[in-house]
Amino acid sequence: MNAPVNDFTPAQWETLKDQYDFCCLYCKRKFAPELLTQDHLTPLSRGGSHTMANIAPACHSCNCSKNDKTAPEYFRYLSA
Ligand SMILES: [Zn+2]
Repeated sequence: MNAPVNDFTPAQWETLKDQYDFCCLYCKRKFAPELLTQDHLTPLSRGGSHTMANIAPACHSCNCSKNDKTAPEYFRYLSA
């Protein structure tokens, strides 16, 4: 993976999903754990890292439409 820092572990992913109560960061709906995808708050394509601090659970639909926006950009896009 082409990220400046790349230290995200499967255990951290489990912790994150639990912290978010298995809800998508963006639409706030609750999903089965296997339906949550790893969203990079700052996308890898924009220089973001593959670390716990830069990852949040998102559903497939939100992650797809977020695409290469940052999290703040996507929140603005959602509220526009
Ligand atoms: Zn969602």
